Amino acid sequence: MTAPLAKPSAWSLLPAEWKPLCKELGIPAYRADQIVTGLYQNFALSWQELTTLPLDLREALAERFTLAPLETAQIQPSADGVRKLLLACEDGERVETVLIPSKDRMTQCISSQVGCDFRCAFCASGQLGCARDLTADEIVGEVMAACALMRQESGFGVQGSASPSSTPGNETVPPNPDPRPLLSKPGAKPVLPRPGNIVVMGMGEPFDNYDNVLRALRILNDQKGINIGARHITLSTCGVVPGIQRLAEEGLQFELSVSLHAPDDALRSQLMPVNKRWPIAELIETCRAYFEKTGRVVTFEYTLVKNVNDRPQHADALIRLLRGMPCKVNLIPLSPVEGFDGERPEDRVCLAFLDALLKAKLSTTLRKSRGKDVDAACGQLRLRSAKRAV
Ligand code: SAH
Repeated sequence: MTAPLAKPSAWSLLPAEWKPLCKELGIPAYRADQIVTGLYQNFALSWQELTTLPLDLREALAERFTLAPLETAQIQPSADGVRKLLLACEDGERVETVLIPSKDRMTQCISSQVGCDFRCAFCASGQLGCARDLTADEIVGEVMAACALMRQESGFGVQGSASPSSTPGNETVPPNPDPRPLLSKPGAKPVLPRPGNIVVMGMGEPFDNYDNVLRALRILNDQKGINIGARHITLSTCGVVPGIQRLAEEGLQFELSVSLHAPDDALRSQLMPVNKRWPIAELIETCRAYFEKTGRVVTFEYTLVKNVNDRPQHADALIRLLRGMPCKVNLIPLSPVEGFDGERPEDRVCLAFLDALLKAKLSTTLRKSRGKDVDAACGQLRLRSAKRAV
């Protein structure tokens, strides 16, 4: 399903893979470190920017590997600071990524596939099915696009431009007139801005593209890569049991979220067809085994839909289902989407649901809805742009 690329991308390689590769190509080993630093600490967006390398080496690398940012086709800002970026892949497919600022860090929500095959009732990503998997370098490229934007906005120079072409409605960032990196103290190593949290909750099912997603996350997590701590990286699955089992064996510290959305099989199968393949009992058992193997607590995502799964009896059934299970629950009020006639429950209903779970000693949070005015639910922007194109 992965689109073939003429040349591999530099972002498809793990930092540790550059040394053997340099050896194979007859390039001195110390160049591997310079390449990795250029790619991931300095966020070079073209081989020309790796000025620590001699020109002929840059040219030789450019012959073998592409190094080009995904084009930012559109940036949709919202009043609360959340921004959704629509990125164009080389073959013209479009993926969404969302930047969510908070007081001390930027959270980036990234996509794992172009669309999704799992067709959860209220998820816009599934409405057109899955066009293809994203490659590891495209997933890394989503984060690079965010880094480039953050770098530009914070005054760190950027030579290549990740800003979008000036389509009406787009937010364009003026180039920084002074391209010198800002130093916190004289002599300090510049730390370029990057997202502090990554959540794989954009378009797609990460465990339906397991190898590429894991490779990308290892690159993002690698200390010589983008260096985002494992505990700041969250994978979210609709409940693909073999994926959870595989992740349990990786020895990684990533956070795992599981989309549950209903406390019983009849309702869950209605909302999430994946439940017919891996029903609730099997899913919960797998999550329990995941905790036993890794010591990591699973978070259950529960999207609240008015009069569908938000009643007191649903809260009670959820409490019974999760009793004694080391886990967290994250309640998400529905973001209304075209093609699904469910509604967001009133705030007091969401709060009553939260309260019931807290009283039962379930560690529960209610997600503040942000980015409402940017169609923040996954897949909505791509869906709109695809519908416009038809
Ligand atoms: N495929 C993965 C990750 C993508 S969706 C998964 O299913 O977990 C990330 C989360 O957003 C999931 O919990 C999903 O069910 C939820 N979601 C999707 N559309 C939504 C909407 N319209 N309103 C609220 N939550 C939604």
